[in-house]
Amino acid sequence: MRSILPARHRALLAVAGLCLSAAFGAAHAADPVKAVASFSILGDIVREVGGDDVSLTTLVGPDGDAHEYEPTPGDAKKLSAAQVLFVNGLDFETWLPKLTKASGFAGKTVVASQGVTPRKFAGHGDAGKHDDHDHDHDHHDHGHGREDGHHHHGDADPHAWQNLANGVIYARNVAEGLAAADPAHADNYRQRANAYIAKLQALDANAKKTFSAIPAERRKVVTSHDAFGYFGDAYGVAFISAMGVSTDAEPSAGEVAAIIEQVKRERVPAVFVENITSPKLVQQIARETGAKVGGTLYSDALSKSGQPGATYLEMFEWNVRQLAAALQP
Ligand code: ZN
Repeated sequence: MRSILPARHRALLAVAGLCLSAAFGAAHAADPVKAVASFSILGDIVREVGGDDVSLTTLVGPDGDAHEYEPTPGDAKKLSAAQVLFVNGLDFETWLPKLTKASGFAGKTVVASQGVTPRKFAGHGDAGKHDDHDHDHDHHDHGHGREDGHHHHGDADPHAWQNLANGVIYARNVAEGLAAADPAHADNYRQRANAYIAKLQALDANAKKTFSAIPAERRKVVTSHDAFGYFGDAYGVAFISAMGVSTDAEPSAGEVAAIIEQVKRERVPAVFVENITSPKLVQQIARETGAKVGGTLYSDALSKSGQPGATYLEMFEWNVRQLAAALQP
């Protein structure tokens, strides 16, 4: 009996708890939807579309690296209470399935990139335009211990938000995901999404105009990791990445030498550091080639507030402006 009674008590408490939460839920039907976004750029899109109707938590924050994120117990707690989870998809958040399982998340998952045309990794961030260099970046994917977070060649490139046309798809998916979770405010979500999409499309047109005014042979840059393939395809800029697809692989001395050779041979005008990676490698390439350091690009995360890339629109506009300034003859 001694062992049964406490179990009965627990069961009664659990039932009481369920009744309480049901009553609480009914009494607060107008409470904002509890949403979680996996990383800062997507979080900003959810905030734009969700407005006051959504209470949002973002897991990987500003300047954070979502390739290599280690979830905290606090993240599991946030997820367990969430009604909707917004993820990028395309194997970007490799750490997320384990977290959602551990958290007991029972809400709906919305894949923001659903419907984009996935880009395959053609070379390593060079949009297939410079396939004549002789180093083999398959080495990046091997021998670095942590296997779970890797994106292997042949996989889809996860960085789809780097094309604003895809950002429009993200915003629509976010709006429909919120409308499904909270039908009472469906019109609000769709209206906010439409207004936001108009801004994304205006910036998209502006970016295309900006780069088409720069001579094609000047439109080449080096970045540290392979995050700008979609950008390159959409706006006609060739990106050469020093590190490969993910952010955890250090290139070998031979690979760095080959990139330096390529930058010299192709007269790449500028190299850029990123807000989520160490600037050392890119600075070394600049030193040894005479290419100028064009500044910082926002690749996989927003900046902290008060810095130039604190929203998706701001970070994109900043990247366009920095790149265009560096590539101008
Ligand atoms: Zn990345």
